[in-house]
Amino acid sequence: MINQKEYDVIIIGGSYAGLSAAMALGRALRKVLIIDGGNRCNKQTPHSHNFLTQDGKTPKEISELAKSQVVSYDTISFLTDIAIKGEKKANGFEITTQNGSIFQGRKLIFGTGVKDLMPNIEGFAECWGISVIHCPYCHGYEVRHQKTGLFANGDIAYEFGKLLWNWTKDLTIYTNGKSDLSVEQTKTLASRNISIVEKEIVKIDHENGQIQALIFLDGSVQKLDALYAKIPFIQHSDIPKSLGCEINEMGMLKVDMIQKTSVDGVFAAGDSTNLMRSVANAVYGGNMAGAAVSKELIAEDFETA
Ligand SMILES: Cc1cc2nc3c(=O)[nH]c(=O)nc-3n(C[C@H](O)[C@H](O)[C@H](O)COP(=O)(O)OP(=O)(O)OC[C@H]3O[C@@H](n4cnc5c(N)ncnc54)[C@H](O)[C@@H]3O)c2cc1C
Repeated sequence: MINQKEYDVIIIGGSYAGLSAAMALGRALRKVLIIDGGNRCNKQTPHSHNFLTQDGKTPKEISELAKSQVVSYDTISFLTDIAIKGEKKANGFEITTQNGSIFQGRKLIFGTGVKDLMPNIEGFAECWGISVIHCPYCHGYEVRHQKTGLFANGDIAYEFGKLLWNWTKDLTIYTNGKSDLSVEQTKTLASRNISIVEKEIVKIDHENGQIQALIFLDGSVQKLDALYAKIPFIQHSDIPKSLGCEINEMGMLKVDMIQKTSVDGVFAAGDSTNLMRSVANAVYGGNMAGAAVSKELIAEDFETA
């Protein structure tokens, strides 16, 4: 008798990367379970850009369309739940979920993304993805030539500031405390009319997430149209680490050219593996992981047939 809880592949994370992997596997006739907690990193963003055929759509529209196409393959199941534990077993892996279900899969794919850590500044989280933005390729065109801030410090502020100079010549870097930029970097930025403000920010004044101004600890106010922010993040799921998957110095899961992690049978794609955070990149990685897992399964079945 077939155990209904046994799958060829369990995909943890059913957003862009996970769904893309699932589509390749569904088309390869594989029995797949997608477990998804429904907590996409871009869920607060009103419009998603820079993904062909879907430019300007809401993230929800894109993922709902993707999900409807993926679950139309009859070997694919989608479960809204959170995977809390993963264990290596003789014939693959066992995943336990928050609701107490246990599933077995021959292979695992993680499309679990990352969790952005908001600074302790009133209004920051409310503006995240709306007017406090992470990437000029996703949102820079919409705020081009506007009065713009960059919330960052050190080398990353220099490199990101240089990049943003392409989109606006009205740019100020807010280090929220003492600047760690070198004298040379500060001089170069100043020569391009990019100044550095070290004052501590206590609040972002906003209307429904649209930034109006930064409020500083000393009571002063700076009006702004948009604020880019480089903030820290952590892996959304600890399961890959608990299975022994290596993590690089940037905090990303290490994968090879075919999205395979350092653990046999475990693949990963999307934001959890890559600093180039975009829907297109997540879809690419998921598609590659799906095809690579399919190829491994076919090879194993062919050998033992
Ligand atoms: C504010 C913001 C705006 C953005 N705007 C754009 C844009 O305009 N254009 C663009 O191309 N890119 C944009 N991006 C980047 C893009 O959203 C990401 O690159 C993309 O969402 C990554 O897809 P992913 O599938 O890897 O992860 P995510 O979309 O973050 O999805 C991860 C999924 O895994 C689930 N999950 C995690 N852990 C578990 C678990 N243990 N069990 C079950 N489920 C789990 C989560 O609930 C979530 O559904 C934006 C990002 C941010 C933060």
